[in-house]
Amino acid sequence: MATDPDCLFCKIVAGDLPSTRVYEDDRTVAFMDINPGTRGHLLVVPRAHARDLLAIEAGDLAAVAHTGQRLAALQLERLGADGVNLLNSCGSAAWQTVFHFHLHVIPRYADDPLRLPYTPAPGDEAEIAAAAAELAA
Ligand code: AMP
Ligand code: ZN
Repeated sequence: MATDPDCLFCKIVAGDLPSTRVYEDDRTVAFMDINPGTRGHLLVVPRAHARDLLAIEAGDLAAVAHTGQRLAALQLERLGADGVNLLNSCGSAAWQTVFHFHLHVIPRYADDPLRLPYTPAPGDEAEIAAAAAELAA
């Protein structure tokens, strides 16, 4: 399986860097974004390294989409979200900052103030962990 020793998300997939993981299967891993746009903001990545939408293998792309669908349903059921934004950025011009393909799964709440593009800011660690626990239970 493709890995890149210098890639942040490969290190997270391998468990060499910490993350708050809420789901994993043979092809994908989902963990909490440390700069959440809203409460419960997740990232879904393929285990295999691919830099972006154009490079990802089609089967991995389908698997990431399927995981995103499952987790969106959990955000509605367990976090009380009213909707979900799925977001992928491909290339610096499109705001991509981590070059291992990832799908943002961003729960939306009827009155939340999030507007895209947003400026990422560190989240409260305990609050991120609490949302993860509700999703992973
Ligand atoms: P993008 O700008 O679309 O490439 O998204 C990268 C995302 O990765 C941003 O939302 C960051 O907040 C998030 N991120 C960066 N480092 C980490 C990390 N160590 N753990 C979890 N999320 C991260
Ligand atoms: Zn990688």
